Amino acid sequence: MSVSFSEILSARRRIAGSVLRTPQRLSPALSRMAGTAVHIKCEHQQATGSFKLRGATNAVLALSQQERAAGITGASTGNHGRALAHAAKAAEARAVICMSRLVPKNKVRAIEMLGAEARIIGNSQDDAQKEVDRLVREEGMTMVPPFDMANVIAGQGTIGIEMLEDAPEIETLLVPLSGGGLIAGIAKAAKTLKPEIRIIGISMQRGAAMDESLKAGRPVAVEELPTLADSLGGGIGLENRFTFEMVRDLVDEVILLDETEIAAAVRTGYFEEAEILEGAAAVGIAAIATGKVSLAGPAGIVLSGRNIDLQLHRRIINGEDPDLMKERDNG
Ligand SMILES: *Cc1c(COP(=O)(O)O)cnc(C)c1O
Repeated sequence: MSVSFSEILSARRRIAGSVLRTPQRLSPALSRMAGTAVHIKCEHQQATGSFKLRGATNAVLALSQQERAAGITGASTGNHGRALAHAAKAAEARAVICMSRLVPKNKVRAIEMLGAEARIIGNSQDDAQKEVDRLVREEGMTMVPPFDMANVIAGQGTIGIEMLEDAPEIETLLVPLSGGGLIAGIAKAAKTLKPEIRIIGISMQRGAAMDESLKAGRPVAVEELPTLADSLGGGIGLENRFTFEMVRDLVDEVILLDETEIAAAVRTGYFEEAEILEGAAAVGIAAIATGKVSLAGPAGIVLSGRNIDLQLHRRIINGEDPDLMKERDNG
């Protein structure tokens, strides 16, 4: 199944006024590295610190009165839960957010601060999802999933419209890729407006579920591993309905990054752009800095979130090796 451009246009009307139309600016430093103009879309500046506010807000605002009254639930690696909590509060609905133990504490606290219940379940997103399914089944709550829902994808797609409005000359879009809601929506919008545009997805090497699934030709499960790009962790769902097919049909290429490359890009974001980025949000910078993507003309990258533990951020900025940091955390 797929999401249409008109659903993205409806999302744009629905969420206008509830989410930021984020700024996009030319980056001289990245343009120098790439040898062509690079525009950065600042989605990390959304109120909850990530683009996920767009999809969650669109999905919640599209619910019926009855569905809202039953309460809203979802599983999340953090940013979706935070966005959903924010959107539910704005709609005066109760929210229960389920997440695995791998989710960083700062993200759990942020959800509780927004008035939602944070329920910690198991060691994987699949375990958290089972609790969500139970709440839907036994308590009649309404689920808003992090990526595999038409209104979520349509909400994220509004970013693609804005990027081409602000820089119609863009020829390539570099987009962080996990479950694929972000890139599916952006790709649908961008390829409708400009069919020849190239869409590149970027994931980490540690547990790239969509990449593995594309190679297998069907959704497959991968082992979830700790990564600096924690917002890119988790599976795409073996029963995937929208994003697998949309990514397969609309995304031209997928690039994978190691932990050292992601850490270096977080540093570049800080020292060259004065932006605090989480690992998942820095992958576009990394794709350019490592030369893993070659750009013939103007490009746009999505800075997708800023929700990183600030102690961890400081250690990355100070140049600590990400693999050594992991050993220390586990020991
Ligand atoms: C969720 C998320 C992504 C990936 O989005 P998908 O729709 O799952 O592909 C990228 N960056 C950040 C910061 C996120 O929170």
